[in-house]
Amino acid sequence: MMPSLDSLTLRIAFYTLFFFFISGPAPAQSTDLLRRMYRHHGEVKEPGLDTRRFKHADIMTHIDALKRDPAFGVSVAGHSVQGREIRAVTWGDGPTTVLLWTQMHGDEPTATLATLDLWNALQDAKFLPEVTKLKERLKLVFLPLLNPDGAEVYERQNALGIDLNRDALRLTSPEAQILKHWRDSLDADWGFNLHDQHRYYSPGVTNLTSAVAFLAPPPDPGRSQPPNRQDAMRLIGGLAEGLQSLIPGQVAKYSDAFEPRAFGDNITKWGTRTILIEAGWLDGDNEKQTLRRLYFATLVAALDGIAKKTYTLHTVQEYNNIPFNQNHLTDLFLKEILLQEGRSEYLLDIIYKHTEKTEPDGRTWYREARVEEMGDLSPYGGYTVLDGNGNWRIIPARTHPHVMVSMDELRDEPLRDIILSGTAIFRMEQVNNSLRFADAPIAIRRLDDNANEPFKLGQNPTFYLQDKKTGALLYLIVNGQAWDLQGTEWQSALQQLLSAGID
Ligand SMILES: [Zn+2]
Repeated sequence: MMPSLDSLTLRIAFYTLFFFFISGPAPAQSTDLLRRMYRHHGEVKEPGLDTRRFKHADIMTHIDALKRDPAFGVSVAGHSVQGREIRAVTWGDGPTTVLLWTQMHGDEPTATLATLDLWNALQDAKFLPEVTKLKERLKLVFLPLLNPDGAEVYERQNALGIDLNRDALRLTSPEAQILKHWRDSLDADWGFNLHDQHRYYSPGVTNLTSAVAFLAPPPDPGRSQPPNRQDAMRLIGGLAEGLQSLIPGQVAKYSDAFEPRAFGDNITKWGTRTILIEAGWLDGDNEKQTLRRLYFATLVAALDGIAKKTYTLHTVQEYNNIPFNQNHLTDLFLKEILLQEGRSEYLLDIIYKHTEKTEPDGRTWYREARVEEMGDLSPYGGYTVLDGNGNWRIIPARTHPHVMVSMDELRDEPLRDIILSGTAIFRMEQVNNSLRFADAPIAIRRLDDNANEPFKLGQNPTFYLQDKKTGALLYLIVNGQAWDLQGTEWQSALQQLLSAGID
């Protein structure tokens, strides 16, 4: 007999209550805390640092300021290869030791900024009433900006060219020795290995970016799950749940293949409950300030989960359910378009990826675009996906015959009409990289640049996509970005470039 509607309602109510009591209010609290921290982050956000390419000296000023608060201990942990001071910051009087290190890769700065914000939160019991409990239960030790030499030039490796995260066993680098020393002397209960990852990961095969990715690193090639790793997995399960409510579908986990030289894997092996957090990418968040906010909220919720042991209310299965990072995304994905070679026409897909390049000043940067792959690329997705369905033909853009002396000369040209008639490349005597790779529907090139680069892997060709039947120019591709010529956005971008006053 089918149950009546009333008995169904009763049963649903019963199970809801039942699951509330067994899986309970505690995880929900940690989700609430994470959301609250995200919402109010602006109140504790450390001012003065809102770009990714800060330097050692910038951070030291902020660490020095902590010395005014007796709750914090600041000491010299050691020095980098180039002699920059690496500090240890301690806080809390509790029995549970937590070691957190940031930016062991010099070009992965998000956690360092989130840590400055976390310190502000720990100083403000009105903002974070949980502080009292955290202080009596935890002892936090931070090693912020572990690779200051790398940060100086915004590179992954240290000044010797060594990836610190492949130096956990040989310990050639002084920075790696510092981390090992603190892990061992504390015999840390928990370790937070704080990183950034590239912008092409998606959680599973989707067109969404992985904004935050986690890993409870494995202690051996068999990826076994000793109790310390299981605790890390449970904590991550709770954090992922909290983040999912803010960035649905954008939480992932990092590959758990064992890397024998990495710190995370070894620190798990040495008995510490280890959590890797990766700030990934959110479209449009170029300086990762929204990710910093998410990262901050995640760290607070993690510490609270450890202090109150709410991680024990989560399961390893919750961790297992988080989708793996897939290296799936690209910046531009052109599907099924036609390339003319000699007298034949070939159907192919093309993907572009953009590489960030830092100028010698270590502060300014631009994105260089290159054709990454050609052929059947159906497994990929992209920030922008255009499907030609075999109806669009590649037409290389022409180069304007005159060499421009300046932007002023360019402004005098009837650019709109020139572009619509198939010319989109302009050579100029003085061109910096920001201009060469500007986010605009014209390609500005140096005199010695190939005006238009060939349609080959690793090149940056400028071209149109033309409707094969009507002959209409539909899109213009410049620096791996597609401009819809039927729309108006390209015209305003052009206007913006011309009025920016770059000369
Ligand atoms: Zn890293």
